[in-house]
Amino acid sequence: MTLPAHVPAVWLAASVAANVILFLLFTVFALSRKSERPAAVAVGRDAEEVIDNWETRIERVDVLWFPTVTFSPSAKRVLKTAPGVPHCKNCARALSLSKDGNKGWVCPACSQSFPETLADVSILDMISKQAVKHFLERHPGFQTK
Ligand SMILES: [Zn+2]
Repeated sequence: MTLPAHVPAVWLAASVAANVILFLLFTVFALSRKSERPAAVAVGRDAEEVIDNWETRIERVDVLWFPTVTFSPSAKRVLKTAPGVPHCKNCARALSLSKDGNKGWVCPACSQSFPETLADVSILDMISKQAVKHFLERHPGFQTK
């Protein structure tokens, strides 16, 4: 069986690039979580258009997630969702990407490690969809589009 020699390198590069992008997204999210968020933020052309954030808790793939749903109360519309970073199920601390050469995630409190695949796009998508489902169950009359 002969595989072109460049294919694994391309996959590796794509994997590294994807991880860097995810890490940056998660870092931005983690930093925004630390700062105090106002309950409602006025945006748009006029001050009447208000958006709000709603956070839920989901346990999936053996970790905790705290996805955020951004919505417009006046338009009764879901605007966007963010899956957030995975959290340790034991400590509820945000996991970080391992820095010791091992691929994957690690809990800063209890040092438990988790597989790199924890934050695959398919899982993040599943978390976002679950968050919207939770939101719609608790906010009758809201729509996603
Ligand atoms: Zn932990």
